[in-house]
Amino acid sequence: MRSISSTLAGVPPSPTTMMMQRGRELRAAGKDVVNLAGGEPDFDTPRHIVEAGLAAIQAGDTHYPPAFGTPALLEAIVAKLKRENNVHHVTPGQVMVTPGAKWALFATLAALLEAGDDVLILDPSWVSYAPMVLLHRANPVRVALSGDDHFRISVDLLERAITPRTKVLMVNSPNNPTGRVLTRAEIDAIVQVAVAFDLYVISDEIYEHLVYEGHLSASLAVEPGMAERTVIVNGFSKAYAMTGWRLGWLAGPEPIVKLARVYQTHSAQSAASFTMAAGVAALNGPQGCIAEMRAVYDQRRRMVLDAFEEIPGIECPPIEGAFYVFPRFTQTRKSSLEITQALIDDALVVGTPGSAFGPAGEGHVRFSIAERTQDLEKMLDRLARVVPTL
Ligand code: PMP
Ligand code: GLU
Repeated sequence: MRSISSTLAGVPPSPTTMMMQRGRELRAAGKDVVNLAGGEPDFDTPRHIVEAGLAAIQAGDTHYPPAFGTPALLEAIVAKLKRENNVHHVTPGQVMVTPGAKWALFATLAALLEAGDDVLILDPSWVSYAPMVLLHRANPVRVALSGDDHFRISVDLLERAITPRTKVLMVNSPNNPTGRVLTRAEIDAIVQVAVAFDLYVISDEIYEHLVYEGHLSASLAVEPGMAERTVIVNGFSKAYAMTGWRLGWLAGPEPIVKLARVYQTHSAQSAASFTMAAGVAALNGPQGCIAEMRAVYDQRRRMVLDAFEEIPGIECPPIEGAFYVFPRFTQTRKSSLEITQALIDDALVVGTPGSAFGPAGEGHVRFSIAERTQDLEKMLDRLARVVPTL
């Protein structure tokens, strides 16, 4: 037989997706497992959003929708960018609605990259960034950030990773997995380097609403010199607890969005029709649901961080945003993969190994706190028992 794709063969499946599945299988086998591997709100989608989706189905909105998003949703996204992000330069023609933010990232990379380009990826970062770059036959170049320095980004670190082929920088704030929110100084560093080296920036803002303690969470696109080089990626999964609806979007310079649109017409085609009606209800409807969910995540964040302080062998700096804790296991020689496995075997707690987010994540395990509080309590009890034995 002829050989099949060596590019794909070189990319492992998404570790978060696989670990989520692992947790589900253990539960299906009757195990009292605490599955904190995936980042997915435990809340159901708010009722008014569900009703809008149901109403759309019942009204016959079950045909091919406009491929790049319904006019109502494109307008709602433009209005949201103005209202919430102070982004005033984006028109509906500069937006594309996608089946999930994951696809928005993929389509953006497809629009930007030539084979052999270098893409800067901050390490640690979300598990799919590097594979997405590889799938476009480009090179992910990791910028190692140090846990000892709270994964701080600096001009120096970024500049050292630049090559003549560097074209894109991928940024995610609030960050999965570290829980960090960019500081003013870090934003300035990114802007300085992006402008000086003429880089495109993909700003993944999917956790924008999940910021605690008044940290700043502004779009990079509003910074000087950034509008023409920044593609904003966002979606409905995290803020509105809509992971299963598969609805996201990108917004950026017209030439890039135009190519992303070409790509979408030949691949995913569009997001599902009736999910777009739900998206309009989410963006234009009452926003109290976000604050309610955020308040619960915030309580859990405090509970977990306080409890970790009491467990010898775990070190966990406070998280500023998103809904993950990313503790380091300090009293074991085991790799993060081995620690994750031991926690499954001995504590029935499923996390995602830090190394899945890049070499800089080694020694860490990521746990989602977007799970029921009682599950998090169980996790804490079990970790207190098992971590000293690792
Ligand atoms: N970016 C980051 C950083 C994420 O954690 C996720 C969640 N998987 C996504 C993008 C994609 O989200 P979705 O495809 O569910 O919209
Ligand atoms: N964003 C989530 C995570 O990081 C969902 C799974 C995924 O798409 O990776 O766990």
